[in-house]
Amino acid sequence: MKKVQRRALSVILIIVCLMGGIGFFTFRFFTQGSKWVNFTANRHVYNNGVIIDGAIYDRDGNALLDTVDGKRKYSDNESVRCATMHIIGDKKSNVATSIQKVYADRLVGFNIITGMFSTKVAGNIIHTTLDSDVCAAAYEQMKGKKGAVCVFNYTTGEVICLVSTPTYDPENPPVIQDGDDNFDGVFINRAISSRFTPGSVYKTVTAAAAIDCIPDIDAQKFNCEKVMTINGQKIVCSGTHKEEDFQTALKNSCNVAFGEISMQLGWENTELYARKLGITTGHSLSGIPTVKGKVASSGGLNELAWTGIGQNTDEVNPFAMMRYMGIIANGGICVEPYIVEKITTGSGIPLNIDKQPDSQRILSKATADKLSDMMRYTVKNNYGDRNFPSGMEFCAKTGTAELDGDKKSHAWFVGFTRNEKYPYAFVVVVQNGGGGYAVARPIASKVMEAVKIKADKAEEASEN
Ligand SMILES: [Zn+2]
Repeated sequence: MKKVQRRALSVILIIVCLMGGIGFFTFRFFTQGSKWVNFTANRHVYNNGVIIDGAIYDRDGNALLDTVDGKRKYSDNESVRCATMHIIGDKKSNVATSIQKVYADRLVGFNIITGMFSTKVAGNIIHTTLDSDVCAAAYEQMKGKKGAVCVFNYTTGEVICLVSTPTYDPENPPVIQDGDDNFDGVFINRAISSRFTPGSVYKTVTAAAAIDCIPDIDAQKFNCEKVMTINGQKIVCSGTHKEEDFQTALKNSCNVAFGEISMQLGWENTELYARKLGITTGHSLSGIPTVKGKVASSGGLNELAWTGIGQNTDEVNPFAMMRYMGIIANGGICVEPYIVEKITTGSGIPLNIDKQPDSQRILSKATADKLSDMMRYTVKNNYGDRNFPSGMEFCAKTGTAELDGDKKSHAWFVGFTRNEKYPYAFVVVVQNGGGGYAVARPIASKVMEAVKIKADKAEEASEN
């Protein structure tokens, strides 16, 4: 009898172990399954560490990346390949923030219920919001320069251009020698992962805080004699602007006036608005993380003044600046920029519900509209409408960010077009490029011309 009992006990024990094992495997399957499939040694999916399944399309259905006979194939157009290398990803998966890397499991088409698609069926298609033509135009304009160009539709959130330079052709990758300055930081997407001293484009952030926090800002008069001394330290302006009001101070990009405004705001508001406007917070571009900016939040009065002018230790990410331009343009409401529109199977069956963009009010309509008017005034009375594609109603701000030592300034041009036919916000930054007006403004103008051509074509097509 005892023998039978012992045997029964052993059988129960074995069953318990087996059930436990199955349970553990099932748990791991559901939590880690995607990782197992995407393990780079899986030869069904990877070839020398590169995914060989799936495709990535632009907004017009052109393949930016495709899989043909088990091989990765990029766009036929070299400029498009170079322009989108960072966001699509190269053949060796060098860019950590690429769609290829971040969306690896979705591209392959791993499904927890059915497992992977058989090798006979292609992987999934990621449909992006990118416009190949606008990206190519941005790349052509940035050729030989380092920096970033970002453009998005501020009413829908669609990012149509996200170009980082230096870049290279992913179909013909160069041999990069250590220390080759032409390829300095080539695997970093500067648009989303880098920070640059903003210089005067930051005055748009200080101006928003001033409109909200300084009740008599419009009645105030500033007097610029080129140099202002605070506690024995100098704030130097690019010009001698004499008496000016708030709006004229932005148009003149006057350091003396903005130094004074920053001191009136104080550290608390300076810090609050940098955070509230998304400059010092990180963002998610369809799940791809962006880097946080850096803005000082304590120090002497002199440092406070330089902080509001966009110097001191300020560093801003181009994507965050583009997002902020969209907030001003869209009457204070932020429609979060996104880049992945939808994912379908190779045969076009949708795999997820089309994403509704998130939106939230960041600034009051009155504040946003006032700032928009001031930036429009700046273009009309300083940069000149003749320097931009006609009829788009440019609102913008230049930045020439001074750097320590004898390093050349970063050139910035940021803003948006407010004609409702062209609801686009943009950022151009040229690393060590020189003057914002001379260097970044013409690039922005050319890129936005490409945006206009595409928008006009789309409108024509919808009318016919
Ligand atoms: Zn001045």
